Amino acid sequence: MLGKLKLATASLAGCFGCHMSFLDIDERILELVDVVEFDRTPLTDIKTVGECDVGLIEGGVANEENVEVLRDFRRHCKVLVALGACAVNGGIPAMRNQFELEDCLRESYVDGIGVANPGIPNDPEIPLLLNKVHPIHEVEKIDYFLPGCPPSADTIWTFLTELIEGRPVSFPYTQIHYD
Ligand code: SF4
Repeated sequence: MLGKLKLATASLAGCFGCHMSFLDIDERILELVDVVEFDRTPLTDIKTVGECDVGLIEGGVANEENVEVLRDFRRHCKVLVALGACAVNGGIPAMRNQFELEDCLRESYVDGIGVANPGIPNDPEIPLLLNKVHPIHEVEKIDYFLPGCPPSADTIWTFLTELIEGRPVSFPYTQIHYD
């Protein structure tokens, strides 16, 4: 690939654990910055995504802001990647899907044990929750899926280096078993 590959990342309904795993590539990040330029990502604190080669998306889609961010990434990134179980299948946040949203909100803010000052938050600054949490491929076309909770640093490293070098992405067995 000519020039530096532009990389953006975002966390939707995730816990930032996938981003932490990315950082676990440790000193290899110095090799990475030789060939990659970071765009919007929590690592740079850039708030808007520009034209990018690759976007890594952590977390599922749980609210209207998640939808906007994901659509923005799809518009700007040539390759979009579901990073981790929450992005791939909804993960832990999707456990609420077995209940009605209103029941979840009432349990959290009104009826739950230890709730003080009951009342469901209703501030325009708070993104509206969707009725269900969605894996990101249900909202936008996704090019690659990296499962795992989180995917290991080595898996993320293999994926990025294969992509940068223009090779078909393939993983050694040690990076694709989850037992
Ligand atoms: Fe966190 Fe695991 Fe979800 Fe990644 S896949 S955002 S580590 S819960």
